[in-house]
Amino acid sequence: MKSTECAGTPLTQLKGVGHARAQALFRTGIETAEQLVTYYPRDYEDRRELTPIANVKIGDSVMIRAKLVNTPSTFRKGRLAITRARAEDGTGHIQLVWFNQAYISKNLEAGREYVFIGRADHKYNTLSLLSPKWKEALDDERGILPIYPLKEGLTQDFLRQTMRQALELPTLREYMPVEIRSRYRLAEYSYASHQIHFPDTPEDVDLAKARLVFDELFMLRLALLQVKNNRIFAKNGYRIPPAPDEAKLRDRLGFALTKAQERTVQEILADLDSDKAMNRLVQGDVGSGKTAVAMIALFAAARAGRQAVMMAPTEVLAKQHYQNIRDLMEPLGVRVGFLSGSLTAAQKRDADEKIQLGLYDIVIGTHSLIQENVEYARLGLVITDEQHRFGVRQRAALAAKSEMPNVLVMTATPIPRTLAMVLYGDMDISVLDEKPPGRTPVSTYCVNSDFETRIDNFIAKQVRAGHQVYIICPAVTESETGDLHTVMEYGAFLAKEVFPEFKVGLLYGAMKNAEKEQVMQAFYDGEIQILVSTTVVEVGVDVPNANLIVIQNAERFGLAQLHQLRGRVGRGKAESYCVLMTDSEQVLTRRRMKVLVDSEDGFFIAEEDLRLRGAGDLFGLRQHGLPELHLADLARDLPTLRDAGEAAAAVLRDDPDLSLEGHYLLKQKVQEYIARGDETAL
Ligand code: ADP
Ligand code: MG
Repeated sequence: MKSTECAGTPLTQLKGVGHARAQALFRTGIETAEQLVTYYPRDYEDRRELTPIANVKIGDSVMIRAKLVNTPSTFRKGRLAITRARAEDGTGHIQLVWFNQAYISKNLEAGREYVFIGRADHKYNTLSLLSPKWKEALDDERGILPIYPLKEGLTQDFLRQTMRQALELPTLREYMPVEIRSRYRLAEYSYASHQIHFPDTPEDVDLAKARLVFDELFMLRLALLQVKNNRIFAKNGYRIPPAPDEAKLRDRLGFALTKAQERTVQEILADLDSDKAMNRLVQGDVGSGKTAVAMIALFAAARAGRQAVMMAPTEVLAKQHYQNIRDLMEPLGVRVGFLSGSLTAAQKRDADEKIQLGLYDIVIGTHSLIQENVEYARLGLVITDEQHRFGVRQRAALAAKSEMPNVLVMTATPIPRTLAMVLYGDMDISVLDEKPPGRTPVSTYCVNSDFETRIDNFIAKQVRAGHQVYIICPAVTESETGDLHTVMEYGAFLAKEVFPEFKVGLLYGAMKNAEKEQVMQAFYDGEIQILVSTTVVEVGVDVPNANLIVIQNAERFGLAQLHQLRGRVGRGKAESYCVLMTDSEQVLTRRRMKVLVDSEDGFFIAEEDLRLRGAGDLFGLRQHGLPELHLADLARDLPTLRDAGEAAAAVLRDDPDLSLEGHYLLKQKVQEYIARGDETAL
C-alpha cells in the first residue's frame, strides 16, 4: 500500500496520535483522518440517563455518577479476592464490589468523581453495584457514546477522542449534489458523520445511517460506471473479426451450440470486432458450456494474429483445458502452449520464449500467465475461467504488456441479477441460462446421520459399478467442538474401516500445491475412487466419471457453495446423485436444504440464499477489487441500492467526466474510492 495515493489529512496531525497509534490504525486499513471517520461504531452506550443512587433498585442495570468515598480495599474469601469501596452522589450511598480485580484499588482514587455502570444487588448486607465498569466523570461522557470495534493497539477512549477531532476537519465537506440530496431526502454529510459517531438521539442514528448507506452504494455504482466508461480502457484501436473458418472449429466440437451459447458467442464476437476493448462477464451455471464459447473467441483471436490466453484456477483444470483445446485446434493449424507454476525452470524458459516470439497463438495456464516476467508478442485476448476478476490495476498491468487486450471473465458463481449489477457494474454481461440437451438432473437428497450405513453402502455400490465419488467435509483436522467431519480423521476412518477395498484419496487447501495437483490428477485418471476433500474441489477439477457427491455437515455451507459442489457431478452420462448430510434441526437449515433438493437453477438458488441468509460476505467485495462496505448490507439495503444506482447513472448522464464545478468534490471522492478499492484487490 502506498499512502501517497490517498489524499487526505495524515493521522499524525491529530492530537494524541503518535507513530504507534497511527500504525495500529493503519493495520485496520485507515490511513487518513478522513478515512477514520468511516470507522463506524458497532454499537452505542446510552449514557443520557444517570440514576440518582436514591432511586437505584435491586436488579436494575444502572449508571450512576458518584464520588468515591474511600480507596477500594481488598479482602480474601477462599479463592476469591473481593474488592470493595463506597460511593455517594448527594442522594445516597452505594457499595461497589469487584471480584478478583484487586488492581482496581490502584486505578480508583478516593475523592474523585466517576461514572459507574453495573447491576444493583444486595451484597454483604447493603445495596451494591456488582463489578461495575467505571469511567472518570467528564462532561463529555454524557449522551450516547460510540462503541468501536477494537483491534490491537486501539482503545475506546483513544478512538473517541481522535474521532471528535477528525469530525472537526474542514475537509469533511458535503460532496453530494444538492439535487440528489433533496430527491432522496438525504441528511447533510457532516451532520450524518457527527451523528453516526456521537448521536443526540437514536433517531439521529437512523437518519445518519440512511445517508451513509446511500453514500456507500452510490460510490460503488459511480466508481464502477466510471471504470466502465473510462476511455483509457475503452479504446484499443484494433479489431478481431470472426475467424473465416469458424465453421471448421464448430464441426470439430461435435455438438451444436445451445441458443444461449450462440447468443453469447455473437455478443463476444461483436465486442472483439470493434475498436474498443471487450470487458465482458459470462455468467453460466456449472455445465452450461462456457468452454465452447471461450474456444470460439480464442480461435478468432488466433486467426486474426493476436495472441490469446486462457487462465484456470488450478493446474489440473488448466491442463484439461489445454489438452482439449490442443486436440481441437492443432489440426486446424493453431499453435497451443501451456504455462504454469509446475513447469521446470527450463520448460518455463522455453514457454516464455515461445510466447515472446509469437510461436504460440494460444496459451493455456494458471495465473502465472499474467505474471510480470511473461512478455507477449501480440496479446489480444485474455480469458479467465472461474474466480479471477481483473481489478483496475490488473487491467492496467495487462494494458502495459501490449495494447489493451480484450478481457472475458467466465464465472459459474450464480449471482442474483440485482447484485450482478453492483459487483460487475463495470462490465458487460452475458448469461448462459440454458443447459446443453441430454443432461440428466442430479438427484438430491437431504438425510441425517441415521442414514450413514445406507449411504456408505450406496457409495460402495457406485464405486463397484465403476464410478467415482466425492465426500466433502467442512474441516481439515479435528475441530474444537469435535462435531464436524474432517478430511483427516473421517477420511482415514473411511479408508481403513469402511472402504478398505477401495482407493481413498484426501485433498485440502493447505496441502502443498504439487501434492494437491497430484491427488487431483490421480482422481482424474481414475486411480483414486473416493476423494475425501474440503471445498477446494469446488472449481478445481472436472471428472465426468464421478456421479455421487456426499456433503457432510451440509448446514455449514452456503447454498451457492453447495450448488457449486453439486456441479462436480452430473457431468457424464450416468445417473448422478448429491447427498446432503446434516443433523441440524434448525428451521432455517431445513429450508435452505429444501431449496437445493427442489431446484437446480443456480440463479434461483442464489436469490434464495440471499433472501434466507443475507449478503454477508457471500460476494466478497474485496475479491472483486472494491472497498468493503462498512454500513450497507447488499441484501437488506436493496431498495437503497436501486436508488443509489439510479442517482449515480443520472449524475454521469449529465456529466460523464464529473468535470462540472459542482461535482468537483464528488470527483475527488470517487477517485480516492477507486484507488482504495484497487489497493485491497486480491
Ligand atoms: P462449464 O460451463 O461448467 O465450464 P463446460 O464448458 O465444461 O461447462 O461444458 C460441460 C460439458 O458440456 C462438456 O463436456 C462440453 O463438451 C459439453 N457441452 C458444452 N456445450 C454443449 C452443447 N451445446 N451440446 C452438448 N454438449 C455440450
Ligand atoms: Mg468450466
